[in-house]
Amino acid sequence: MHHLLYCIVPNNNNIQATVAQNMSLYDENLEVGPYVCECSCIGSVAAKYVHSTVIAPNIHYVGAATEAVNKWHSDVAKALKAHPMYDEPDPNCSICNGTGKTTSTWNSDGRWDWYQLGGRWTGVLTEGTDSVYKSEADPQNMEPCNQCDKGWKEETCPICKGTGFRLKWPTQWVPCERDILPIAVLLEYFDSKIHTPYALITPDGLWHDRDISDEDWMDYVKRILEENKDNMIVVVDYHS
Ligand SMILES: [Zn+2]
Ligand SMILES: [Zn+2]
Repeated sequence: MHHLLYCIVPNNNNIQATVAQNMSLYDENLEVGPYVCECSCIGSVAAKYVHSTVIAPNIHYVGAATEAVNKWHSDVAKALKAHPMYDEPDPNCSICNGTGKTTSTWNSDGRWDWYQLGGRWTGVLTEGTDSVYKSEADPQNMEPCNQCDKGWKEETCPICKGTGFRLKWPTQWVPCERDILPIAVLLEYFDSKIHTPYALITPDGLWHDRDISDEDWMDYVKRILEENKDNMIVVVDYHS
């Protein structure tokens, strides 16, 4: 999924570098120093037993009436909990040798596997102003349609509808100037409209997730922006 993130950074000459540095902490592929964690074999003995005794013999419930499926799910959950190895490691596990503990270098703070400034959300901070930027309508984001000459007649081409041009992929869209904006400028029209972000990064490098109701989240976003009115807001498109 692609999500909108606002990265808040100090207003200086290193805006893009600071965004990159703060984003790097949340890279899913970042390797961190080894730490002790639970082995994935915990509960696997019980799961295997329940699969062969409760799940596999009743697989015909798939597609059955809701009531039968619900009962089946509850039988599976009960059988798992009742099993003596429910919360126990597999004594024959080759990873942890039955201890249930292993080490990992996986970044548990990882949030993204790809991002770029602007991207799909380029121009989003123009919403609420007198000149809203629509990347889909910018001629610079169009390219000649390559489907018309692949068997489609121009007038029947499902991609360009006969115009001969198609929208470029968002990674190639030209950036909008307002993707990097002083927060004081944004706050002048914040109340009229601002696109709800999926996440925020504050100048201390902390990632804030939208895990509260929409209304509470926008109050929270506004408070953070007001606390940072001397800083810059940067529009980021990230994939997770
Ligand atoms: Zn194990
Ligand atoms: Zn076409």
